[in-house]
Amino acid sequence: MFCLDDTIAAVSTPVGEGGIGIVRISGRDAVEAASSVFIPACGKSVRALKSHTITYGRVVDPKNGDTVDEALLSVMLAPSSYTREDIVEINCHGGFLPVRRTLELALGAGVRLAEPGEFTLRAFLNGRLDLSQAEAVIDLIRAKTETAGRIALSQLSGGVSKTINLLRDETASICVNVEARVDFPEEDIEPAALGELIERISALRKSLEELSATYERGRFFRHGFSCAIVGRPNVGKSSLLNALLERERAIVTAVPGTTRDTIEEYLNIEGLPVRITDTAGIRDADGLAEREGVRRSLRAIDGADVVVALFDGTTRLQDDDLNVILKTSEKNTLYAINKSDLASAFDEGEISERVSGKPVVLKISAKTSEGIDALKSAIVRSVVRRGAGDVESIVITNLRHKAAIDRAASALERAGVSMERENPLEIVALELRTALDSLGEITGVVTSEDLLGMIFRDFCIGK
Ligand code: GDP
Repeated sequence: MFCLDDTIAAVSTPVGEGGIGIVRISGRDAVEAASSVFIPACGKSVRALKSHTITYGRVVDPKNGDTVDEALLSVMLAPSSYTREDIVEINCHGGFLPVRRTLELALGAGVRLAEPGEFTLRAFLNGRLDLSQAEAVIDLIRAKTETAGRIALSQLSGGVSKTINLLRDETASICVNVEARVDFPEEDIEPAALGELIERISALRKSLEELSATYERGRFFRHGFSCAIVGRPNVGKSSLLNALLERERAIVTAVPGTTRDTIEEYLNIEGLPVRITDTAGIRDADGLAEREGVRRSLRAIDGADVVVALFDGTTRLQDDDLNVILKTSEKNTLYAINKSDLASAFDEGEISERVSGKPVVLKISAKTSEGIDALKSAIVRSVVRRGAGDVESIVITNLRHKAAIDRAASALERAGVSMERENPLEIVALELRTALDSLGEITGVVTSEDLLGMIFRDFCIGK
């Protein structure tokens, strides 16, 4: 069982040098612990400090009175705090030593080191956040683009919970209705009432299915997607990566085969985090290192949501290019003909002849950036076909939520079928309960210790 009786502490800022570093303490003894390691400059005792105030003073070692740091102490008393417990935060000078020493002193004052995510777990257990809101906290911390951040923020302020609770209320209302009829079997159900219940179950299932479908796009905003740039050496893969990133990252040289390893970068295209991999050139490798590079290229193609197959427009199609076309033919591939700033010797028809369907072929110049914006849009469109701009309609970005919604929808489907077949209403009621519990798991009305452990293990320490 989770314990809320003890007081926990952790460094809540990233490790390393910085302006400030914060040691956060939460729990019933937080103020007591702070009073043994912090002396306000104003002469007041820490216990006398008002809630939601910041006080200047010194962090001291209670054993010998030595000053460890000059710091600010914020006091946020229960219930108006992140965890709904008493919280004090000691704002030290950012740097490894003062922050670590302050934490050690706090731990010496009867406080326990917090587990990853334990502050947020407490916020959940104390009813400050529901489970989907708690999960949004970590999404917000990890968001790589503004759009991903906006979606996380909407979930944090209860967007998902509101939608789920409405659907859960409707499920509960149908469930109560059916269970009442189970309890009073002597009262016959009139066919009209039966038909209405079947209708309601079906409408509810449809809403859940629609919600579940938003995950496909939602997950791209949350996790981003991957794009691999492949092509034989010297077609301009590293230059293209640089053009996409608009800064120097990959080493560009005129010697074939210099990009031996794969290079990964995040790019923000239309609010979507895109992980771009520049792979080693695909070609018949003689050298060992290059063979390893080629092996990685092939793996990058396998794992990519979209592949950009790159060709050199100043030459005719070569054997290594044919290999690229072959290796990418089964994938979601865009064909980019590079070096459009130079005279073309490339025959695009040679690509269409070799792939099924109508290939997307773009002319670009990594050097002058001509066609790079069009390529960026094409990359996004090839993955998010239904229009990436429509962020507001995305509700579900979390696989755990989607799985719970899908379980609820299946249970409702079975309930509907049972009802149509005039099976005993007990069976229908059982399915409706399953749907109700599945939806409850999303916001944490129904939960288990294992599930909570799994969710919060993913968090960083100090949050
Ligand atoms: P990689 O081996 O496929 O990564 O190719 P690089 O990016 O190293 O480029 C190979 C050579 O082609 C370098 O000399 C680049 O400067 C040149 N290059 C790349 N893209 C362009 C382009 O769009 N136009 C011109 N003129 N040269 C390019």
